[in-house]
Amino acid sequence: MPEISPELLSSVIHPRQSDTHKGDYGRVLLIGGSDQYGGAIIMAAEAAINSGSGLVCVATHSINLGALHARLPEAMFIDWRDRNLGAMIGQVDVIVCGPGLGQSDQAIKLLQLLKVNLTGEQTVILDASALDLIAKNKELMPTRSKLIIMTPHQMEWQRLSQLRIPFQTDSANLAALRALVPGSKGVLVLKSNHTKVFDTDGNIYTNPLGNPGMATGGTGDTLAGIIGGFCAQFGGKVNSVLAAVYIHSWAGDLIGQDHYVVRPTQISALLPRLMKKVA
Ligand code: AMP
Ligand code: MG
Repeated sequence: MPEISPELLSSVIHPRQSDTHKGDYGRVLLIGGSDQYGGAIIMAAEAAINSGSGLVCVATHSINLGALHARLPEAMFIDWRDRNLGAMIGQVDVIVCGPGLGQSDQAIKLLQLLKVNLTGEQTVILDASALDLIAKNKELMPTRSKLIIMTPHQMEWQRLSQLRIPFQTDSANLAALRALVPGSKGVLVLKSNHTKVFDTDGNIYTNPLGNPGMATGGTGDTLAGIIGGFCAQFGGKVNSVLAAVYIHSWAGDLIGQDHYVVRPTQISALLPRLMKKVA
């Protein structure tokens, strides 16, 4: 089974042309951040910005808008009850749905809104509570996507796939991934201390990096944002996912050399320098 390599990272991230503009780097919409979990969507959005997306917009509970404005002046924001959100979903390149979303009726409405407004041109990354809601109601899976990327940790995958952790074998995971996204192309990023990436074509990759300092709240939200940023700007979407998984752990390992705990915001802060190094 292939390991994700530094060569793969360099093949995905390339130098920017001098006559380029932000429109060349994709539009990412992040949906999440309930009244209780605002930090998750802030961390995901920060990762999307630092990984180089041309435009980042956040749809969130109104209570988070002030904190988001203050922390991330680069991003645009929309109240997730705003009736323009549906149109926006159809206009972006990548949607990250789930960090801090929660499981309220409003969260279910947002997944329904996502599903009906996709045009088939968007890559959708589903994380955290979005996956738990889909586990309870498979109808919520946003099937009209160019690519569906799911980023569960093992417990979330257990709920979604019905595979208890000891039974999460490669062949069972692939079968469950294909069953969840019938007729669509899908990628499963199954997060653990040995994260594996599966695609519906049957490819499986392992991530050789990462460390226990990364076992802290927000690390996964940050990964979802990086995947969004990379998919928005680089071709080869599965390779973009692999590159995102790799750089996230590489940053974590560099920070972990002299930090007992790796704060997710430190990972985001390191991204532009690591990208410059490999481009
Ligand atoms: P989440 O549980 O959604 O916050 O995601 C946790 C993130 O941190 C995933 O990308 C995991 O691969 C990573 N992570 C957590 N614990 C470890 C560990 N012990 N070793 C390596 N990576 C880890
Ligand atoms: Mg998570």
